[in-house]
Amino acid sequence: NAMIVIIQWVMELAPYGVAALVAEVIGTSGVSVLTALLAYAGTVLLGLAIHAGIVYGGMVRFIGRIPWGSFMRAARPAQLIAFSTSSSSATLPVSMECAEKNIGVSKPVASFVLPLGSTVNMDGTALYQGVAAIFIAQVFQTDLSLGSQLSIVLAATMASIGAAGVPGAGMITLALVLTSTGIPTVGLALILGVDRILDMFRTAVNVTGDLAVTTVIATSEGEELQLNSSSSDS
Ligand code: ASP
Repeated sequence: NAMIVIIQWVMELAPYGVAALVAEVIGTSGVSVLTALLAYAGTVLLGLAIHAGIVYGGMVRFIGRIPWGSFMRAARPAQLIAFSTSSSSATLPVSMECAEKNIGVSKPVASFVLPLGSTVNMDGTALYQGVAAIFIAQVFQTDLSLGSQLSIVLAATMASIGAAGVPGAGMITLALVLTSTGIPTVGLALILGVDRILDMFRTAVNVTGDLAVTTVIATSEGEELQLNSSSSDS
């Protein structure tokens, strides 16, 4: 109960604190930082689209041997819930239903791969953390050697695995990525304003990844997948 009260205080203070931190950054770096913020959000969205289309699309098409369009239609209910709740964990029951009813994956495969994926597989989160770390480093003019950039990739992958499937978890573990590479963590305040909207997109990508991997595992187990597009709109 004490923790809840303290967190409530923090939540009430947070908007003022964030405003002050952002004001300081704009005061020292200029208003151009806001344009840069839009470019940052656009880069994350573009990266997510490329990752979903090429990596997952390729996996589903060439390893899972089902058309990408039909897969996306079958996965749509889970993607919509992921988008609106920003939580892979909250989406898990719908993902299971999509995998079993819409894609035709067997229960043993779906109930093993999806719960694991909803906590461990967060490609969208890792991708966002990588872009965010580079963006914050650029705003604070922190030079990143090739070694530091590679350690961002490694740290973001580990941090995304450690992040819980709940809204904003990726933002919290991003602090670890920044600390491990010496980037100022105060930069988190800068991206907080656009985080919720990016969280919606990256969670949808995380959940799409879980379903793509489930499909591939089912095929590799010799299952004949029967896509059911009619129930995908339910
Ligand atoms: N909201 C994300 C998820 O549940 C985690 C994050 O990136 O914040 O998958």
